[in-house]
Amino acid sequence: MKLPIYLDNHATTKVDPRVVETMLPYFTEKYGNAASRNHAFGWVAEEGVEQARQQIAEALNADAKEIVFTSGATESNNLALKGVVEMYREKGDHIIISSTEHRSVLDTAKTLETKRGVKVTYLPVDKYGMVSPDDVRAAITDKTVLISVMLANNEIGTINPVADIGKVAKEKGILFHCDATQGVGKIPVDVQAMGIDLLSCTAHKIYGPKGIGALYVRKKGPRVRLAPIIDGGGHERGMRSGTLAVPLIVGFGTAVTLCRQEMPVESVRLAALRDRLQTTITTALEEVYLNGHPTQRLPHNLNLSFAYVEGESLLMGMKEIALSSGSACTSATLEPSYVLKALGVGAELAHSSIRFGIGRFNTEEEIDYTAKRMIETVTKLREMSPLYEMAKEGIDLKSVQWAAH
Ligand SMILES: *Cc1c(COP(=O)(O)O)cnc(C)c1O
Repeated sequence: MKLPIYLDNHATTKVDPRVVETMLPYFTEKYGNAASRNHAFGWVAEEGVEQARQQIAEALNADAKEIVFTSGATESNNLALKGVVEMYREKGDHIIISSTEHRSVLDTAKTLETKRGVKVTYLPVDKYGMVSPDDVRAAITDKTVLISVMLANNEIGTINPVADIGKVAKEKGILFHCDATQGVGKIPVDVQAMGIDLLSCTAHKIYGPKGIGALYVRKKGPRVRLAPIIDGGGHERGMRSGTLAVPLIVGFGTAVTLCRQEMPVESVRLAALRDRLQTTITTALEEVYLNGHPTQRLPHNLNLSFAYVEGESLLMGMKEIALSSGSACTSATLEPSYVLKALGVGAELAHSSIRFGIGRFNTEEEIDYTAKRMIETVTKLREMSPLYEMAKEGIDLKSVQWAAH
């Protein structure tokens, strides 16, 4: 077993060597511009792009013409929200999103709110992080132009009842965008069955390269129109100008296809490793709490809070394992994760949370090593914690009068 161990597969993933292999010729031999219509270099590049477009469309049960390539899910989310708000301005000025969306949806909504006067409803979630379709229905007004709810959460792995939300959207004739970045390639996704009109995904979360993503944009039933964010040569049906990143796109296509082929076996393997990790840790340690839904969650996700221990200290105590305390995006600040807050997890337990993201290249040996190190480190830190000692002595910490700082 080699150290360090990578268990942060929600942040990004290693590019699968089989993906790299299909990309390489597009850097050095097949380097044409996919928009060059007059020569073989262009045709060859275009062929690579169109094959990948087909592969991604198939994975979503969409048509290849409905796939727009972007630089990643952040851009896809920006394009979906800003593009719809701008295009359907006459129809209304209200959008609905959930409060546990990724930053790239939350911050885009915030910008639309503050700079464009758009009204935004932030839907609550239940204690497992799930959005209720009834809450979506209740939030709809005659000015609503878009509903945006993620498929699976990047911190806690909770899977939303997206098909039911899609039904509500259809019933009311409102466009439904889904940030499916953590779900695509990991769990089955079907834009028809789920009633999704716009869907964001990215290659680097599914063993593909960084810097390439896609936005699915429904062509019929209804035909979704989008105002572009980037103007230029009119690539991607005018929705996203700019020379296509052919090698990255080809890699994205391969990555999606590999995930699709391996999903039935791989998701079972990952869930077994995840359960093994969880069981080993919770059997050995007391006061460990699961964040997220006990069953409706991504097979490779585990988010645990270790009472009386700071997540950051925990990670510092086991530097040979790459993990995340809270989301990678919020860990730069000392704020407890807004996702855990939305679940109603208290600040203390939110600060003591660790996210495990198991991936394609992790082994059982690595999982067992991680569980062992986790148990050792938590035990050591708790032994040094006066709070833990007091709790063990039966003192109710809530009743303690703390001296002012
Ligand atoms: C990673 C992630 C994104 C951002 O994707 P990029 O391609 O890195 O921009 C958006 N949404 C979710 C749920 C994610 O996990």
